[in-house]
Amino acid sequence: MSQVTTKNGSASFEAALEKELSELRAQGLYRKLRVLDGAQEAECVIDGRRVINLSSNNYLGLTTHPRLKKAALEFVQREGVGTGSVRTIAGTNKEHMELERRLAAFKHTEACVVFQSGFTANAGTVSAILGKDDLIISDALNHASIIDGCRLSRAPIKVFAHKNVEEAKQILEENKNHPGKKLLITDGVFSMDGDIGALPELCELARHYDCIMMVDDAHSSGVLGKDGRGSVDHFGLHGKVDIQVGTLSKAFGALGGYVAGSQRMIEYLYHRARPFLFSTSHPPAVVGACLAALDVLEQEPQWIAQLWENTRHFKAELARLGFDTGASETPITPVIAGESRMAMQLSDELFADGVFAQGIGFPTVARDKARVRTIVTATHTREQLDRALASFEKVGKRLGLIS
Ligand SMILES: *Cc1c(COP(=O)(O)O)cnc(C)c1O
Repeated sequence: MSQVTTKNGSASFEAALEKELSELRAQGLYRKLRVLDGAQEAECVIDGRRVINLSSNNYLGLTTHPRLKKAALEFVQREGVGTGSVRTIAGTNKEHMELERRLAAFKHTEACVVFQSGFTANAGTVSAILGKDDLIISDALNHASIIDGCRLSRAPIKVFAHKNVEEAKQILEENKNHPGKKLLITDGVFSMDGDIGALPELCELARHYDCIMMVDDAHSSGVLGKDGRGSVDHFGLHGKVDIQVGTLSKAFGALGGYVAGSQRMIEYLYHRARPFLFSTSHPPAVVGACLAALDVLEQEPQWIAQLWENTRHFKAELARLGFDTGASETPITPVIAGESRMAMQLSDELFADGVFAQGIGFPTVARDKARVRTIVTATHTREQLDRALASFEKVGKRLGLIS
C-alpha cells in the first residue's frame, strides 16, 4: 500500500522544532520510543529484543490477569467498545456508577468520581476547586499533572523543597491570613525516587492551618496500605485527607484515575471538573477490567505480598553491589548514575544485555541525579531478578559506577 505524506506548510515552524530537537540530541536527552511487541509482562519483546522489563508500572501483573481479561471481553460483548458520550450527557453506564461505589468503599470514603486518567483526575480536580484568589502549597517533586492543575487554577503556587515539612509550615505561617482557600498537596509515593510523602506531618499542618489536604496516590494505589488502599491507609490517616487521587492505570492494570472524598466534593466535581464534563467516559472494557481489579485486590493478597518480597530482594542486592539507590522505600528503585548522558548509556547497555530500565534525565530529575529507574513487579521470578542484577553488576562495573 502506498502512503502519501504531504510537506508541512510552515518552514519556520519546522525549523524551530528542529532547533529544539537538536538541543535535546546535544544533551543526550533525545529518545526513540521503545516499541513493545505483545503484552506488558515481566519479560517481553521490546524493539525486537527479549528483555527483562523493569520499566512498567504494572506492579501486580494485572495487565494480563485472566480475571481482568475475561471481564473486559464480557463487557465488550454486552456493551460494545465505546460509550459515545461524556459522563454528564449520555455516557454514564450503570457500571460506571458501580465502579465509583466500589472505589469509595475500597478507600473508606463517602464517594468517588472516576476520570479518564490519573492525569485528568489531578489536573481536573485542582483546577476545579481553586481559583485565582486561593493559594497552593506544593512539594517540589509533585507530578506534572498536579503542576498543570495548579497552573490552570490560576491560584498562586508556593513550592516547598521536597518533603521539607518545616518549609511548608513556614509558608503556611506566612500566609495564615490568606483570605481564600488553601490547598496543601503532595504525592503519596514520588514517582522518580520511590520515597513516601510526609503525610502524617502534612495532615497535621493542614488541620492546624485550615488547608484542604490532597494526596496523589498514583504509585501507592495497589501498592501501599491494606489490599493496596494507598498511602492514607498505610499511615492510618482515614478522615484526615480531603482529596485522595488514585490511578487505575498502574497497579490496577487498566486505565483511569479517580478522586475519593466527601459526597459533597464529588457532586461538586461532577459539575465543575472539566475533563469529566468535556471528555468521553471510559469504554466498557476498561470499566469491566477495573471492577475485576478490585476483586483481585480484595481476594488475591498474594500479589501484593510477592511485590514487596521482590522489592526487598532487588533493593538489597542493588545496595550490596554498591549502587546509589537514593531514598526509595517502595518498588520504585532509582539507580543514580550522575549526568544524563551516563544514565542513558547505562540504560542502553543494560538493554543490549537484555534488561529494560528506562533512563531518566534533566529536567525530569536534577541535572546531577540522572538515573535509570527500576520497578519490580509481583510477576518477576527470582531467576529474572537475579539475571537483571547480574547485568547491572556487569554494566555498572564497565561504566565505573561500582567497583
Ligand atoms: C502516572 C502518574 C499520574 C498519572 O496517572 P495516569 O493514570 O497514568 O494518567 C499521576 N500522578 C503520578 C504521581 C503519577 O506517577
